[in-house]
Amino acid sequence: MEKLVVFTGAGISAESGLKTFRDADGLWEGYNIEDVATPEAWRKNPELVQNFYNERREQVLKAEPNEAHKIIASLEEFFEVSVITQNIDDLHERAGSKNVVHLHGLITKSQSDKNSSLTYSIMGSNIEMGTLCELGSQLRPHVVWFGEEVPMIEEASFLCSKADVFVLVGSSLAVYPAAGLLQFVPSKTIKYIVDPKIPSVSAYQHVVKIEEKAVIGMKEVKELLLNER
Ligand code: NAD
Repeated sequence: MEKLVVFTGAGISAESGLKTFRDADGLWEGYNIEDVATPEAWRKNPELVQNFYNERREQVLKAEPNEAHKIIASLEEFFEVSVITQNIDDLHERAGSKNVVHLHGLITKSQSDKNSSLTYSIMGSNIEMGTLCELGSQLRPHVVWFGEEVPMIEEASFLCSKADVFVLVGSSLAVYPAAGLLQFVPSKTIKYIVDPKIPSVSAYQHVVKIEEKAVIGMKEVKELLLNER
């Protein structure tokens, strides 16, 4: 089977009711990123950061995968599909995708403040202040904050380098190192880009731009992919 790599950003979950921030007002649900999504913010005001992610988690648990997530899962019938996502929601998994690499972590899990590889599942939607990991440090959301390392980037780069077909959905390609992944996709590989505001991809060859929201755009991509077979 051909290898299909689908790289998704916050835009794919917009039609599930989860807001993106970069294409709107530069705020994430009314907050400056520096105040809620950096290690400095956590050191300065852990309660605020914990509450912010508790609210995001509650939204994620209430949201449902949309048709775009489901189309990507359905492509497993025809391709060996790997999903690489910048998203911290679990909508790809709930839509049925089996191989999902979360570059920025997964909000439905918690992690040790001392060792990011110690992760735990969360009962309900909240991590409470005072709940400790096995090393005795406060549990925090299992998300990669700005300025932190992205441990999954190596696996993601390798997957991209092997892609026979590549699809990018709903990412502004503004957050590095994730945005640099396109450089690993072989130049001969067709790259479908679905976004109502197509990001700058002038450096790449064999690009097919579909200037649509994720649901309509992914329907179009599926048709194109299956017609080409
Ligand atoms: P981003 O950089 O991936 O940009 C969002 C992109 O989505 C833009 O290019 C925009 O044009 C596009 N878009 C908007 N509506 C769309 C739609 N209906 N269909 C398809 N594309 C659409 O994302 P960001 O919001 O700047 O967030 C960056 C980081 O913040 C993420 O990588 C993630 O770690 C975190 N975040 C996660 C979620 C989530 O998990 N759902 C939501 C917001 C932010």
